[in-house]
Amino acid sequence: MSRAYNFSPGPAALPEDVLRRAQADMLEYVGPGQAAAGASIVELSHRGPEFLDVAQRAEVDLRALIGIPDAYAVLFLAGGATTQQALIALNFAAMGQPADYVLTGHWGHTAIKQARPYVDVRIAASSEAEGFKAIPDRADWRLSADAAYVHITANETIHGVEFRDTPETGDVPLFADFSSSIASEPLDVGRYGLIYAGAQKNLGPVGITVVIVRRDLLERSGQPRAGIFDYRAHLAADSMLNTPPSWNWYLLGLTVKWMRDEGGVEVFAERSRAKARLLYDTIDGSDGFYRNDVDVAARSRMNIPFFLHDARLDAEFLAGAREAGLIGLKGHRVLGGMRASIYNAMPVAGVEALTAYMRDFQQHRS
Ligand SMILES: *Cc1c(COP(=O)(O)O)cnc(C)c1O
Repeated sequence: MSRAYNFSPGPAALPEDVLRRAQADMLEYVGPGQAAAGASIVELSHRGPEFLDVAQRAEVDLRALIGIPDAYAVLFLAGGATTQQALIALNFAAMGQPADYVLTGHWGHTAIKQARPYVDVRIAASSEAEGFKAIPDRADWRLSADAAYVHITANETIHGVEFRDTPETGDVPLFADFSSSIASEPLDVGRYGLIYAGAQKNLGPVGITVVIVRRDLLERSGQPRAGIFDYRAHLAADSMLNTPPSWNWYLLGLTVKWMRDEGGVEVFAERSRAKARLLYDTIDGSDGFYRNDVDVAARSRMNIPFFLHDARLDAEFLAGAREAGLIGLKGHRVLGGMRASIYNAMPVAGVEALTAYMRDFQQHRS
């Protein structure tokens, strides 16, 4: 078997330890301290003792990993990050109430599109005119005092732009899409009203999304909505209002546990810094053979788009990379070029292999 280094943006690489554990449990599940279940974890009821234990452990481990205070509820939901982008408007804004959006890339656009039917979307700041290469200066944001919330995308997965600090938004709660950077460094949850993250980048598999929400905000009446769109109803049912994505939840639990065992977010922050530095140094030190256009202060540690000086070399670069055991590097169609996604499951050795390949390719093509 030869597993490649996978730089895919999402679904993304999972730790090999997690996949091996899952492979064993796929056939017959034996929970910690439990008797053999006699069935796969995928086949067991979500109301049974095995899965209830899986679900509770996942929450305990996630709370410990991220440092989630008791004043915050944690929900495990289907529907992806995109669904939360609509649900936050329905749950926390009165019909037509303003909500402020800071637009720093593709996923900010998606967030606006999903919320627009329900709220008066106000673009408080945007870097779109300059091609999403920076975070707009906080002094230039135009926030509304009557906004239901301020929404940011903590890390723009496609444009490779990341907030490097937490903006202060006064009495209006800050909502953040952390899909592609959660658990990659210490996070002061208390500064946010709500954090959501699709799991398929840093927390596990696709098919499950984590919502971390300040409990008092759930008292807001929001807008008329079915129970299945109501965060309060999901919380009251322990995220089992209907059949939850149990396999995905289980894999998320394994991944979060793995991150704790590796040493937690401080360790991943250190590794992320090292990986990002290695890659940006290679790009910046290539005399223009490779290029990343993002403002240095806003460069993402997780998703690093880069371009070859001559786009006609792209196909050859990708084919050679694949041969060298490096996959998932093709850039998003919105930007073209290349993108290396280096989430927590990507070891430093993977980025070392990538940068060695990049230097080698440059040597033979310039
Ligand atoms: C991947 C991603 C999304 C979309 O997630 P889905 O689970 O496909 O809905 C939203 N925001 C960010 C920042 C992402 O990286």
